[in-house]
Amino acid sequence: MKKRIVILGGGTGGTLTANRLRKRFGPDEAELHVVDRDDRHVYQPGLLFVPFGLADPDELVRPRRRQLRKGIEFHESEVEAVELDADRVRLAGGVELPYDALVVATGARLLPEETEGLTGDGWLERVFTFYDVEGATALREALARFDGGRLVVNIADMPIKCPVAPIEFAFLADWFLRERGVRAKTELVLSTPLDACFTKPIASKHLTHLLAEKEVELVTEFSAGEVDGVGGKLISYDGRELPFDLLVTVPIHGGAAYVGRSPGLGDALDWVPADPHTLQARAKENVFALGDATDVPTSKAGSVTHFEGELLDGNIARFLAGAELEASFDGHANCFVETGFKKALLIDFNYDTEPLPGRFPTALGPLPLLRESRVNHLGKLMFQWFYWHALLPGRELPGIGPAMPAAGKQYAA
Ligand SMILES: Cc1cc2nc3c(=O)[nH]c(=O)nc-3n(C[C@H](O)[C@H](O)[C@H](O)COP(=O)(O)OP(=O)(O)OC[C@H]3O[C@@H](n4cnc5c(N)ncnc54)[C@H](O)[C@@H]3O)c2cc1C
Repeated sequence: MKKRIVILGGGTGGTLTANRLRKRFGPDEAELHVVDRDDRHVYQPGLLFVPFGLADPDELVRPRRRQLRKGIEFHESEVEAVELDADRVRLAGGVELPYDALVVATGARLLPEETEGLTGDGWLERVFTFYDVEGATALREALARFDGGRLVVNIADMPIKCPVAPIEFAFLADWFLRERGVRAKTELVLSTPLDACFTKPIASKHLTHLLAEKEVELVTEFSAGEVDGVGGKLISYDGRELPFDLLVTVPIHGGAAYVGRSPGLGDALDWVPADPHTLQARAKENVFALGDATDVPTSKAGSVTHFEGELLDGNIARFLAGAELEASFDGHANCFVETGFKKALLIDFNYDTEPLPGRFPTALGPLPLLRESRVNHLGKLMFQWFYWHALLPGRELPGIGPAMPAAGKQYAA
């Protein structure tokens, strides 16, 4: 009998999973439905470049429908709730979508209003985020006008998507302000609630060294509690103050609001608990989750979402056939870290192995790990093409897949 698969979210994970499922199942075998609140698919890694005039926001956005293969039904609607007992999704306006299998791919939600004062006076004037198109575009104007002072880059709380993006922002700000001749008049600060600049010790050591080299002051264990946009002060819960002329913040993240309205689906922060190796949700056996929406203990990143998606269509097919799920996802994450001056680092890790130095094997030759290089920067730029033309359509990317390669890594003796 024909199965019905409903996918919530038409971003990175939802789109690539729907396309992979469409390739796997003929139209007589499965009906596929994708739900998203809008028809604007944003290439989010490109947002990093917008404030520095290195990317045009219009070039990062494409219609969602056009990224979906023929035979996938797209519903442009807000998800209201999932009724786990009835195997049904409720959309805004009362439409109901029953399912045999459900995929949660609704990502992470930015919650700037959770930090007192953040969206008050000064918001989008001297207080910005680059984590969405509107913020990144407004920040571009502000940075073009900035002629020195204190620029504070802040991570309000963890987890965030792409935990290296604020560090990359600081590196690019250093480059940009030097190019504009105002770096000597600027104090550049990166503040984080973590006890180091990144979650993994070896990568943190390398990145901290680079921050120091680029004269970026690192403030650790700083949990932002309040923003005074008029006085220009970021205040931590323990009463420390960071003055700023320009604040670039990565707001608190949470899961989608409908998760909280769907009893049994999510946790207190609306993330969806899932088995870290099969991606089956803890809520019910016919529910699966991938990408930023889950609570699995790896980075919230597009690369992780992509690797998860390569396992997930197979596991959904196994589930629908009554077969045992494959428990092989290892938490693989892979990320180019832009460091300015047309260079980047590459980090590659999984649940058990932290980012290590060495060389990452690719079909085109090895890339240096944890070391700045021009070739990694080109890799970062080229990735946008792969995103639209290979990753989203659900094609295999040559030489890179869900299992983290051990070859080339320098393991401690
Ligand atoms: C500035 C920035 C830089 C980044 N750089 C990198 C990078 O260099 N490398 C990397 O690997 N990753 C990077 N990322 C992270 C990457 O973009 C995400 O991890 C990835 O897009 C996650 O995919 P997803 O499918 O889980 O979520 P998304 O792609 O965010 O998709 C979620 C979708 O769900 C929809 N949705 C949510 N709630 C509802 C609802 N209630 N009803 C209907 N629709 C809903 C949203 O509209 C959205 O389209 C970056 C992110 C940012 C913000």
